[in-house]
Amino acid sequence: MAKAKTETSMEKITSLCKRRGFIFQNSEIYGGLASTWDYGPLGVELKRNVKEAWWASSVYERDDIAGLDAAILMHPKAWQASGHVKSFFDLLVDCKNCKKRFKLEDLTESGKKKIGQAKCPNCAGTSFTEQRPFNLMFKTFLGPVEETGSQIYLRPETAQGIFVNFNNVLNSTHKKLPFGIAQIGKAFRNEVTTGNFTFRSREFEQMEIEYFVRPPEANKWYKYWIKERFDWYVKLGINPDNLRIREHKKDELAHYAKACADIEYKFPFGWAELEGIANRTDFDLKQHANLSGKDLNYFEQDSKERLVPYIIEPSGGVDRTMLAFLIDAYREEEVRERKRVVLGLDKRLSPIKVAVLPLLKNRAEIVKLAKSITDDLRKNLCGGGKRVVYDDTAAIGRLYRRQDEVGTIFCVTVDVDSLQDKKVTVRQRDSMEQERISIENLKNYLGEKLQS
Ligand code: ATP
Repeated sequence: MAKAKTETSMEKITSLCKRRGFIFQNSEIYGGLASTWDYGPLGVELKRNVKEAWWASSVYERDDIAGLDAAILMHPKAWQASGHVKSFFDLLVDCKNCKKRFKLEDLTESGKKKIGQAKCPNCAGTSFTEQRPFNLMFKTFLGPVEETGSQIYLRPETAQGIFVNFNNVLNSTHKKLPFGIAQIGKAFRNEVTTGNFTFRSREFEQMEIEYFVRPPEANKWYKYWIKERFDWYVKLGINPDNLRIREHKKDELAHYAKACADIEYKFPFGWAELEGIANRTDFDLKQHANLSGKDLNYFEQDSKERLVPYIIEPSGGVDRTMLAFLIDAYREEEVRERKRVVLGLDKRLSPIKVAVLPLLKNRAEIVKLAKSITDDLRKNLCGGGKRVVYDDTAAIGRLYRRQDEVGTIFCVTVDVDSLQDKKVTVRQRDSMEQERISIENLKNYLGEKLQS
């Protein structure tokens, strides 16, 4: 059996995602809404598992971080305080020849060359309009009157919901510095350049930690979080050769940041950001304190001093992370001169943990036994809540291939012998090894193997 890792193209991943129900174009029957995506029956499971793995390592496995789920809509002053109203924009130019619109930074390689040296990627024209700013926040209105006074925004990042709740979390949890608040939620950006499947979408989900520290310790925690977050991707199966850390240069830093590093993944279209870790200083808490008129500081018991903590922020995207997991897990193998497609996802991430397959679907006793095994595993496997499916829609060889392609960890086959010896065949995804296991022991056997 050859185990060569093939170069995974975006075409292969997008086609698999559509064919097997991971990701669909949003509003497809109407021709699609640009850069918005819907997660299908398997995609929703994988996405939940990605978020659960992040939540477990960020919240459940620690004492120093608490969770939060803030609203998408916020008081418009929050976005003035954060700087988004003033500075969250792209500079746009139009090609005078073909009228196509571009981000200035894309034409000038992020400012490395002048616009006078740029060529239109569409028509090779060299004449462009003056640059003008375009704010990336989606606007909407609160209440029934559509006027400037009632204009609000869909949040472009989840972080601000954490900062404005700093006092609430501190007072309700009595945390001591350093401590963090973690949140997963939707964010919206009216991106100018999109593409590369879900990599840059207009509606996406973020997983963010805001970690509050004593200012002199900020650099130590900044480094800590870069390592911690890098290791998280590796622990969940991403090949470390496909990951790198890129430290931002001073002129790249956002207005609020003192330092920032990206964890980048080697996508088929090149190295690109999965997650950013930033030292946001005391900018956010001070800004919100200024605009709200409320104190947002921390009382140090020992020294009896008040201080405004610095914030270290690991900020990742659920959709991008999921895309990287899919690409990294995809492989094609030759098995007995036939191609086998396998999604070698980590067992914590796989959408389906176990598929129960009857060898003969026209034998009522076999079907009955297979269904009762499915029910039992659903209720009892690792305390329930792990996806177990029953499938009799094709012959066994094809069923195995279908399950391999979506990353199912175990297939359990019920055959004629099972009726007599009360055993089933358990087939493992990666090795394809098969073992006869007694039905009585099945949930313990699988439970142990699936335990992280
Ligand atoms: P980029 O430079 O790619 O636009 P960014 O630096 O603006 O990203 P951040 O503001 O740091 O991104 O957001 C944190 C994370 O949120 C990113 O690392 C990414 O995983 C995710 N993210 C940001 N914008 C998008 C988007 N349009 N679509 C999908 N995920 C996104």
